[in-house]
Amino acid sequence: EASSSRKFSSLTFIGSRPFRPSSYSTTFAMASNDVSKPKIITGDFGYVLEDVPHFTDYIPDLSTYSNPLQDNPAFCVVKQYFVHVDDSVPQKVYFDSDEVHACIVTCGGLCPGLNTVIREIVYSLYHMYGVTTVLGIDGGYRGFYARNTIALTPKVVNDIHKRGGTILGTSRGGHDTSKIVDSIQDRGINQVYIIGGDGTQKGASVIFEEIRRRGLKVVVAGIPKTIDNDIPVIDKSFGFDTAVEEAQRAINAAHVEAESVENGIGLVKLMGRYSGFIAMYATLASRDVDCCLIPESPFYLDGKGGLFEYIEKQLKENGHMVIVIAEGAGQELLSESMQSRNQQDASGNKLLQDVGLWISQGIKDYFSRQKTMAINLKYIDPTYMIRAVPSNASDNVYSTLLAQSAVHGAMAGYTGFTSGLVNGRQTYIPFYRIIEKQNKVVITDRMWARLLSSTNQPSFMSDKDVIEDKTECISGEKKEEDPATQFLDNG
Ligand code: ATP
Ligand code: MG
Repeated sequence: EASSSRKFSSLTFIGSRPFRPSSYSTTFAMASNDVSKPKIITGDFGYVLEDVPHFTDYIPDLSTYSNPLQDNPAFCVVKQYFVHVDDSVPQKVYFDSDEVHACIVTCGGLCPGLNTVIREIVYSLYHMYGVTTVLGIDGGYRGFYARNTIALTPKVVNDIHKRGGTILGTSRGGHDTSKIVDSIQDRGINQVYIIGGDGTQKGASVIFEEIRRRGLKVVVAGIPKTIDNDIPVIDKSFGFDTAVEEAQRAINAAHVEAESVENGIGLVKLMGRYSGFIAMYATLASRDVDCCLIPESPFYLDGKGGLFEYIEKQLKENGHMVIVIAEGAGQELLSESMQSRNQQDASGNKLLQDVGLWISQGIKDYFSRQKTMAINLKYIDPTYMIRAVPSNASDNVYSTLLAQSAVHGAMAGYTGFTSGLVNGRQTYIPFYRIIEKQNKVVITDRMWARLLSSTNQPSFMSDKDVIEDKTECISGEKKEEDPATQFLDNG
């Protein structure tokens, strides 16, 4: 089985329960098919624990793909394999089910779907691989060394997907790498499932490196959690659909309030510290929004073509207006004195000023200066309501796929990867690809143009900005033409 032949050899299961699905398909982002060095194999696109017999027969396949949700083409190694499992032949995975001691930890902010991921990891380990030792780490990374663990069984997690939040608790800060790896070693844990955002994946990567340095046979598998959709490479993050859906409720309330009074302005602040995806998609979905402001699109307040002038025009024409602002929008405009505080949270993230309160005050001050009309402004910040809801049907299904895929990868002996959907396929993505940059709305792309056309708001961009932004895109990643546009352009 360790031969270098390029045919795919079967997975063989060593444990007491056969790996059952009659056909199992997944996509692997792979490193190397070098069979001569069966240590942990590193390369451009992945890592595996040593002696994984079937790994040696994978052939890396370089291909480009475009990311349909984000109009964000990226580059990755993907190869799809369909493994047909014959029930009469015992199949092999890297771990014997009795030897697996798995643990799950959730870190960072809340996001719909966390409990679904926890449930499905436990269920997959128990029911597909016969693993019965799964521990929950209480309260994020610091729980590894500062708290007790929680025993997770199918019974314990059976209906947790109906609840928001995470049954394990979460935290920021407290990432003490050597204490965490000491705890993993002391407890005899050999599969670590880490659910969290960009910071958490960076933490997972550091843990993985330390485990590698100590030569431990411990899988570190990440499941990306980011309500803002700011993790790169993957098509989208779980919880995003739910967040957009919930955001629309807030937008609807703002619209009702604004419409009911004279010169009503409904202002909704949505999540998005650095990436305005939730604001953009909620605006596109709702169609009640007259202006959407996101971190990627600079805007200005006073003067011709500025935000205040646009608000005044809208109120004169329609008598009301709805504004959506992402929490990271316009931070550069906030007063110098506020920024100079430069406060950080426990994880080292910069604490942003409340842009919603700031812009509300700015709008009120403008109209009291102008004395042209009396306005009625209602400000809604639904952030914590959105984060805390259970996930919707589509996110529940997506969370299940991510969790099951992570378990399959770990049981097959992969490590140092994040489970993610790429171009509609389940993939294992090395940590470094996930943490090297943030996913952002590209404002010269079609989706932002669609939004501008839908709201009819000004772009707040000069020609110079457009040229600079395009240059950035070109120097960053190759952009693909929108097929719809190509069709139109071709007549
Ligand atoms: P979100 O921002 O979506 O709420 P996140 O995972 O980015 O999620 P953070 O609070 O930034 O949330 O980080 C979560 C955990 O990861 C924290 O415990 C933090 O200490 C740890 N962490 C963040 N960045 C790093 C890093 N560069 N190296 C090691 N650990 C990190
Ligand atoms: Mg983060």
